[in-house]
Amino acid sequence: MSLELTDVVLTYPDGERTLTALDHVDLTVGPGEFASVVGPSGSGKSSLLAVAATLIRPASGSVRVAGQDVSQAGQATRTRIRRDHIGIVFQQPNLLPSLTVLDQLLVMAHLAGSSPRAASARARELLLAVDLGDKEGKRPHQLSGGERQRVNIARALMNAPDVLLIDEPTSALDHERGSRIVSLLADLTRRHKLATVMVTHDLATLAMVDTVLTMTDGKLTDGAVASAPSSR
Ligand code: ADP
Ligand code: MG
Repeated sequence: MSLELTDVVLTYPDGERTLTALDHVDLTVGPGEFASVVGPSGSGKSSLLAVAATLIRPASGSVRVAGQDVSQAGQATRTRIRRDHIGIVFQQPNLLPSLTVLDQLLVMAHLAGSSPRAASARARELLLAVDLGDKEGKRPHQLSGGERQRVNIARALMNAPDVLLIDEPTSALDHERGSRIVSLLADLTRRHKLATVMVTHDLATLAMVDTVLTMTDGKLTDGAVASAPSSR
């Protein structure tokens, strides 16, 4: 399995007490599977992505990425696994303002040590895949919100990750643009055999995903809860 969380507990200090953000969570996502997590604000969705991204270490339980247990691994190992196996797309596209679209992608390849030539070819291929083939020389301020989010997605795929983690990718977009982003993610998930986990509040896009999970008070359960309030 590309991503496997088993019995994960995550707590945050909260004054004298501790807050349980992830309460014995199990999650398994295989190659080419598009999973979605819905649930109220504050229920633990972003925390789940942070643990899966190896950005936060859980209090207990195991996190396996591309077959390697990272829950007890040191900082250097976690950084390497994140760079080589995980693509991350956060809610706000955090692009570097001074770089062109193409360079946003090349920076990632440079950090991973790939050859500049192979990197340029891959970057151009990914920009075509996200329908930005004609925007490679633009800078972020010259792009629309939807275009910036697509750059963000292409950048996350630069180092050919096994796992793609996305936190509310459509929250800054109108419904139609949001739905196009989710359809693009579904397509990329299949073509690149990604294990994709998308947190969303946009219940209308759930028809495009394979698996729907609901987070409630740190507990992850199968299926969409129809009455789940929208999360923002
Ligand atoms: P969601 O993404 O579903 O809105 P989060 O994972 O951001 O939920 O938060 C889950 C719970 O953990 C919330 O009660 C939130 O206030 C708390 N929390 C999130 N991040 C931190 C942090 N860095 N330190 C302390 N508490 C946090
Ligand atoms: Mg969140």
